[in-house]
Amino acid sequence: MHELSVASEIVKVAIREAEKRGAKQVKSVHLIVGRLTHLSKEQLTFCYNILKRDNILKGSRLVITEQEPKVECSSCGYIGSIGKVSDDELGLWAVSLSCPKCGEPVKIKEGLECRIKAIKMVIP
Ligand SMILES: [Zn+2]
Repeated sequence: MHELSVASEIVKVAIREAEKRGAKQVKSVHLIVGRLTHLSKEQLTFCYNILKRDNILKGSRLVITEQEPKVECSSCGYIGSIGKVSDDELGLWAVSLSCPKCGEPVKIKEGLECRIKAIKMVIP
């Protein structure tokens, strides 16, 4: 399960940041997850809630913001959402990587990241 390794990485970073700042308690960890990562919000939260039990993150909440995919076309300069994005029966995203304007291949600008945006903590 990919989500477990991602969640444990998030937990590791959050603990390190909290310790660095001498936090008493962590309130919430805010995460940006691109749609194209195929990471499940539910699975991430589930793993996070298991991993936080025995450390400073106990009692904190994982807040996930999903980021819509964005592409850039080097042929015509188009920047924006992907032409066809749809859910198939597995819940995965089928993505068209050609420009909706000119049909040339596009580069993915956003939608592949998974990063911590903010950690809210109580510092005495
Ligand atoms: Zn184009």
